Amino acid sequence: MKVMKFGGTSVGSPERMKGVASLVTKSGEPTFIVLSAMSGTTNSLIEISDYLYRKNPEGANEVINNLEQKYFGHIDELYSTDEYKQKTRLFVTEIFDYLRSFTKGLFTSFEEKNIVAQGEVLSTNMVVNYLQEQGVKATLLSALDFMRTDKNAEPDLPYIKEKLSAIMKVHEGYQIYITQGFICRNAYGEVDNLQRGGSDYTASLIGAAINAEEIQIWTDIDGMHNNDPRVVDKTEAVRQLNFEEASELAYFGAKILHPTCVQPAKYSGIPVRLKNTMEPDAEGTIINNTLVRSKIKAVAAKDNITAIKIKSSRMLGASGFLRKVFEIFESYQTSIDMITTSEVGLSMTIENCSHLSEIVDELKKYGTVSVDSDMCIVCVVGDLDWSNVGFETLATDAMKDIPVRMISYGGSNYNISFLIKEADKKRALQSLSNVLFN
Ligand code: ADP
Ligand code: ASP
Ligand code: MG
Repeated sequence: MKVMKFGGTSVGSPERMKGVASLVTKSGEPTFIVLSAMSGTTNSLIEISDYLYRKNPEGANEVINNLEQKYFGHIDELYSTDEYKQKTRLFVTEIFDYLRSFTKGLFTSFEEKNIVAQGEVLSTNMVVNYLQEQGVKATLLSALDFMRTDKNAEPDLPYIKEKLSAIMKVHEGYQIYITQGFICRNAYGEVDNLQRGGSDYTASLIGAAINAEEIQIWTDIDGMHNNDPRVVDKTEAVRQLNFEEASELAYFGAKILHPTCVQPAKYSGIPVRLKNTMEPDAEGTIINNTLVRSKIKAVAAKDNITAIKIKSSRMLGASGFLRKVFEIFESYQTSIDMITTSEVGLSMTIENCSHLSEIVDELKKYGTVSVDSDMCIVCVVGDLDWSNVGFETLATDAMKDIPVRMISYGGSNYNISFLIKEADKKRALQSLSNVLFN
């Protein structure tokens, strides 16, 4: 069975939902569908929560009412029969009444998670009703019944596998199985989610759980491009990527894929195909185990990076210095992305700055500390094995007019990373595209 995931834009209007219905029924084979919320909905749900955190129920109600009217409009457009219009309107009204119920009581992150989950609940119910109206044998499986994270907030794959296989046995014989992306339960059974953009992760976890033949991520662009199309002109789709290359690109900012989405597919050896909903015949990108030798594939960039440097003569020839430094980051659950060292100094980058001042205070016990904020990691990805002569020179040459704060190479066979100022990102990405691809 194939897993097909459709993102927010792909289900962003009644027209698009109809397009999705025709795409998923085309092969006639049983298919597992994962849907995001309609584009803009998750942001509106977060806005509602922001009003409620600030104890402003009027603000929240206004957003709720506007969103509800939009959904009523979608229903009129999507269904052709009164039966399905009424059925779906009743369901949507229930969801919006549920949202209104939060404007009355205490508001914590627990309530927020329940609110934010409703976007995917709405989109999946609308699409399954549409498919059923069209006479397709489709059923909705609630992600909250099988998608679970453990105490470390990591997906609990053995549990997901067991639960989903039992649920699918009960629902044997359907052509289309639909579920919500993004949402899950945590180890305590509470409604939770897999972070923004997490529907890709849902699809990949389901693919691994049911041992799918392929995981398809359908979005608004024809595959992984060789540079960020939001920043750089003339980017092109990359036809094939190795799992490692795709992971690096996703982790270092290629928004088309959620950073962790490649892992479950890679461990289960299931190919991931990126496809364009607006142009279904375009080839897209296939991500699999094959490594094309001696080729630089793509560039990506990750913003909001902070660099921390610690200089200490005590590091000279001393053992255990790095451990002490890393333990400080670990104790504040702050992960380090990039590292460069010299005999007397160490530079690291972090993304999560919520404990920056505590970390800096503790590091000062071991040396002189300096911090650079508003930085950006630019990552060049491809077959960058050190035996391939000249590739790192090519990348460095493209950066010749950009002030570079750190360079990291040799950590994996697939990447060379540069730390630069966020303000120089566009210039750096464009220059890399010109030198490496154009
Ligand atoms: P969805 O809502 O379908 O999950 P996303 O907005 O999360 O879609 O991801 C698709 C977007 O990712 C594209 O519209 C594009 O602007 C952006 N993007 C960033 N980097 C890349 C890249 N290297 N290749 C393709 N798309 C990218
Ligand atoms: N709806 C969620 C978001 O907007 C999850 C997703 O679309 O992947 O982040
Ligand atoms: Mg996405």
